Amino acid sequence: MTTSHYIAGHWVEGQGSDCISVNDPALGQPFAELMAASVSQVDQAVAAARSALPAWKSTCASERAAFLRGFAEQLGQRREALVALQMRNNGKPRHEAEIDLDDAIATFGYYAELAEQLPSKNRTVPLAAPGFTARTRLEPVGVVGLIVPWNFPLVTSAWKLAPALAAGCTVVLKPSEVTPLIEQAYGQIADALGLPAGVLNIVNGKAETGAALSNHNGLDKLSFTGSNSVGSQVMRSASAQCRPVTLELGGKSAIVVFDDCDVDQAVEWIVAGISWNAGQMCSATSRLLVQDGIADALLPRLQAALENLRVGNPLTEEVDMGPLTSQAQWLKVASYFATARGEGLQCLAGGHALDREGWFVSPTLYTDVPKDSRLWTEEIFGPVLCARRFATEEQAIAEANDSRFGLVATVCSADLERAERVADALEVGHVWINSVQAVFVETSWGGTKGSGIGRELGPWGLSAYQSVKHVTRCLG
Ligand code: NAD
Repeated sequence: MTTSHYIAGHWVEGQGSDCISVNDPALGQPFAELMAASVSQVDQAVAAARSALPAWKSTCASERAAFLRGFAEQLGQRREALVALQMRNNGKPRHEAEIDLDDAIATFGYYAELAEQLPSKNRTVPLAAPGFTARTRLEPVGVVGLIVPWNFPLVTSAWKLAPALAAGCTVVLKPSEVTPLIEQAYGQIADALGLPAGVLNIVNGKAETGAALSNHNGLDKLSFTGSNSVGSQVMRSASAQCRPVTLELGGKSAIVVFDDCDVDQAVEWIVAGISWNAGQMCSATSRLLVQDGIADALLPRLQAALENLRVGNPLTEEVDMGPLTSQAQWLKVASYFATARGEGLQCLAGGHALDREGWFVSPTLYTDVPKDSRLWTEEIFGPVLCARRFATEEQAIAEANDSRFGLVATVCSADLERAERVADALEVGHVWINSVQAVFVETSWGGTKGSGIGRELGPWGLSAYQSVKHVTRCLG
């Protein structure tokens, strides 16, 4: 049994009633277990964050920046262990696990720099009215709860932790019960750096632990990344207490391919957008809109590229795609295969679970999927791509925007003016033109419509943990 909760600077055993199994999805077997935190341990974590807040928010920004740089360095020192754990617990291929770690390192480094610039943001406000002065102060929001999912554990936590600590907030992090060991690195690093006790607390658990945190009246803000169904419960808790919330939710993103594209290049971008992390990405471009003039050339090559992906155990084989991370996710994706068969969808590749141990599915392509199909409208969270053809630019924009989600999109076209025009018309938070999904810490992350509220990364990610205050003085 693993000791796995970091509260007030101490590692403690869980006193909750849930036992959490930590699984290797390539084998479909557990390799560790831990007890969830109890509701009273969540209380203790929030109390520790509250009592650490006055001192932490009074530290000078350069001191906080030094801690953040320490997080970046220490993540690098733990590289092999963290890459191996992500491969084992998430089923990520090595290169993907490496990229996740590099993303987390870059995030801490970036917010260290923004923290150093903070004093210059507290500045005098020029007033038209005579007889007064005014100045701005950017203050930390306070004690924040951070709830994250399992698909990019190091990354989604870094995107919250680094800006929150940079702003001067103290935090209680609740990782996913599917990947509860990976973010323990953040507690171990806090220990190694001598981060003051209570600034960072980590409680593990399932829905009960998450709800105890999101309902807690000792928080000043809750930042959540996860599904829409849990996100709406988190929002209800926030509304009951009239407190701010950031929500990073699901997606059903489009990739639009115009007929002036190089076919092989387009196939590469499409495959990356649906097979990275076995399609378990909020930003998976799972709706392919392909123009009539290129569809007949592109679809057979796409079918071949998906069928040629090497799917297997990343710990023992050279693979392009690993298993789905949890049995629940595997069953969910399998249920969509059954729905597709029931709807009579045309399947060009895959469409089934793999006949081997572990939670594997085949990379899948359905074509000419009706607009009202559940596979076209719902987030599947697996390597399942649905395609439709379009004739005109206007039709492509209308179909791409016809979704309750609005997270990201990709546009592929040799006509850059058109690509930029389409990018501007898409109702999403981030658009890639002729690119894989390159995410830079300087640009924002977050969606429109049902994909969430607020933005992470860039200066917007820091603002999410700041409160604006003005002090106005009468000179008379
Ligand atoms: P989930 O909503 O099931 O769980 C997310 C977190 O919420 C977990 O830590 C879980 O334990 C916790 N939780 C569960 N019930 C809760 C409750 N009642 N109250 C409070 N917390 C609770 O999501 P998941 O399956 O872990 O992740 C997949 C989802 O996350 C997908 O929908 C995906 O699109 C989304 N996601 C979004 C982004 C983004 O940036 N927009 C990034 C990654 C994942």
